[in-house]
Amino acid sequence: MRHDTQELALVESELGKKKMPRLLCFTAHPDDEAGGFGGSLLRYAGRGVETHVVCLTPGQAATHRGGASSDDELSAMRRREFAESCKLLRVSHGEVLDYPDAKLAQQDFYRVVADLTQRVRKIRPDVVMTLGPEGGVTAHPDHSMVSIFATMAFHWAGRSDRFPEQLQNGMAPHQTQKLYYATALFTIPERQPISLAPSTTRLELKPEEFETKIAAFKCHTSQEPLFPFFENTVRRRGLLEVFHLAASATPSNVEMETDLFAGVQQ
Ligand SMILES: [Zn+2]
Repeated sequence: MRHDTQELALVESELGKKKMPRLLCFTAHPDDEAGGFGGSLLRYAGRGVETHVVCLTPGQAATHRGGASSDDELSAMRRREFAESCKLLRVSHGEVLDYPDAKLAQQDFYRVVADLTQRVRKIRPDVVMTLGPEGGVTAHPDHSMVSIFATMAFHWAGRSDRFPEQLQNGMAPHQTQKLYYATALFTIPERQPISLAPSTTRLELKPEEFETKIAAFKCHTSQEPLFPFFENTVRRRGLLEVFHLAASATPSNVEMETDLFAGVQQ
């Protein structure tokens, strides 16, 4: 009996050492976290995954200003809305960076990738997700750029010869196991033409996850005129959030998955 107790204590201490699985999502604007990823963020938080969202801009160039009289006022408003949305989606840690909305394509590539690489090395996720390089169904150029920056951060965070100046004071390279692009099974004909990445991974949301995702989007009250467009787009997705497995640390053939953490080693 004594032996059993000791064994149990050992198992518990091993469990204590085991780190929580982590998911990191890179987006361009406050509201992308709900629209593109809300159901998945909720699903994995519910499974005990530590979830992180890094949003590159505070969305200060939005057409809909929510009564804000300046870009700074709108940024502050949208940061608060982002925090509310993250709370509903049970995001462990959300961060809004200060890059200029609608101008991600004009930013210094090396500097932005360094910034995102540093976050990957600090957060040390198992899975990274972001938008696709086509810009998502809305074809927004900022969405394309966050995809490209995040893709390079995913690949370079694991290399000791990229941004070696970051590798001091305990910061180490980190190879994330999987990279996903959000994708869709439809396009919006009245928008610019896009070529979507094929879906490899389908997550079917529970009705309550779906409703929370819509509620999270509606935390972005400055964007209220967009609610009907958003709700229509989300309802076209039905209960599905679909992704494209863009890279994997373990070489493999493509297989249809129903779990972003399929095959992830803890
Ligand atoms: Zn966006």
